[in-house]
Amino acid sequence: MNSYWEEERKNHEAFEEIKQDQKTSVCIIGGGLTGLQTAYYLSDKMDTIVVEKNRICSSTSGKTTGKVTSQHGIFYDYLLNSQGKEFAKMYFEANEKAIKNIKEIVEKENIDCDFEEENSYVYTKQEIKLDIIKNEQKVIDKLQKGKSEYLKEIELPTEIAGAIEFKNQAQIHPIKYAYGLVNKILKNDGKIYENSQVTDIKRDNDKYIVYVNNKKIIADFVVLATRYPITNIPGYYFLKMYQSTSYAMVFEPNKKLFDGMYINYETPTVSFRTIKDGNKRLLLVVGYDYKTGTEELKDGYHRLEVIVRKMYPEAEILFKWTAEDCITLDKIPYIGQYSSLMKNMYIATGFNKWGLTSSNISANIIADKILNKENKYEEIFKSTRMEPIKNRQEVGNMLKEANKSILLSRFKIPKEELDNIKIGEGRIIKIDNTKVGVYKDKTGEIYKVKPICTHLGCELYFNNIDKVWECPCHGSKFTYDGKSIEVPSNKDLKTY
Ligand SMILES: Cc1cc2nc3c(=O)[nH]c(=O)nc-3n(C[C@H](O)[C@H](O)[C@H](O)COP(=O)(O)OP(=O)(O)OC[C@H]3O[C@@H](n4cnc5c(N)ncnc54)[C@H](O)[C@@H]3O)c2cc1C
Repeated sequence: MNSYWEEERKNHEAFEEIKQDQKTSVCIIGGGLTGLQTAYYLSDKMDTIVVEKNRICSSTSGKTTGKVTSQHGIFYDYLLNSQGKEFAKMYFEANEKAIKNIKEIVEKENIDCDFEEENSYVYTKQEIKLDIIKNEQKVIDKLQKGKSEYLKEIELPTEIAGAIEFKNQAQIHPIKYAYGLVNKILKNDGKIYENSQVTDIKRDNDKYIVYVNNKKIIADFVVLATRYPITNIPGYYFLKMYQSTSYAMVFEPNKKLFDGMYINYETPTVSFRTIKDGNKRLLLVVGYDYKTGTEELKDGYHRLEVIVRKMYPEAEILFKWTAEDCITLDKIPYIGQYSSLMKNMYIATGFNKWGLTSSNISANIIADKILNKENKYEEIFKSTRMEPIKNRQEVGNMLKEANKSILLSRFKIPKEELDNIKIGEGRIIKIDNTKVGVYKDKTGEIYKVKPICTHLGCELYFNNIDKVWECPCHGSKFTYDGKSIEVPSNKDLKTY
């Protein structure tokens, strides 16, 4: 499902796909905000190529809420306790710097991306949680005096117990911002290829060979900006992250909207902002997360709608979509070297749904690494830091599935089984001890896939809302007929 932001892509022609072998200094894989900002910072200094498997910002960057903020929910008390004051201060400062950087890029490059300075708010509706809110505000005060304020009332039309305001944050139209970056990258003679999928990366002495659409790019440096890394070993990021999907909806309300950007503290989290749409103001609401590949909230859209209708009863629904992002175990992104064994290959991942600032931080850290410059935030996001394995049982199951070589041929599904599947429904059916993923479309046509993720062999789950196969281990997604749409999968499912 396309997002509201993706309407903007209609104003831009697609870049051509890669047609011949290339040599470059830097090859950036992935044309989301991480890849494009990295190219922005490097393309005036060295030969830079961006390769994108679809259109730019066709994944999470084009489906985000677009808040540019250092207020990452209630976070700094956790950071202070888990990592210490100096670390918390650096994290906060890095994110504040990213807001400033994005503002500067928008001004310098004259990018018309509806950049709006807004205050950001995290609130609770429960008196019992007020101590947590007040404590968080005190922690932030220690990091920067005057940055935040504790409030009893906010403009969002809902009753609250208390809130924290962060001043001087921002919101943008992510795809308009992306095309502003693109203009500058092209002016710098950087190259961008769309519909160009990287299928393999190989080391060749001190160079990398990046295989894309049966062509090769030979590069000195490689940046993996695919959100979830598309290579597993030796980075092992699949042991350190999962993906979480959220529902998003855009409404045209019947009355004046609020100023500011809002998110609640409780789970399920719901996030609100307004969008400037010509002379109108629209409302974007995002929330009701679930771990991708586990049972989706069947009424996620409905629940968002109920919340909005209490505030704006006559609001009209204009857009709805879902999107996912990577969640790390310690809630801190992985930015820097992909692995200590892979010199000159860089990674930026695990943004925990705060990737607008994190992508800018990543772009700066990686550009500085490539340019051999110091970056004072490098250590706190260090990508090669050790992490405990998330869930041993999950990893065990994953490896077991990966090792099972199930040789499936043509399956004939018994008629009574097929009749039991409703129109628009997908599910796994067991035939002769083998599982087949089956989906029945509107016309009654049946699609059969091997319901095993092409990333690391986990069994897939069918999401009956989005009509996609989802992987519960690492969040890959496939269309009902088996096309790989979301990383880390990089190959389609086998079909029957
Ligand atoms: C619903 C939602 C709301 C969010 N709201 C906010 C917010 O308000 N503020 C905030 O700070 N953050 C937010 N985030 C997080 C933020 O949007 C993301 O962290 C960020 O957009 C990730 O950018 P990226 O460039 O790393 O990844 P992506 O945007 O996913 O880009 C990766 C690109 O790599 C391409 N790719 C993948 N595989 C290959 C391959 N093999 N070859 C070539 N290309 C490939 C993909 O097609 C894609 O375009 C939100 C996330 C979600 C899910």
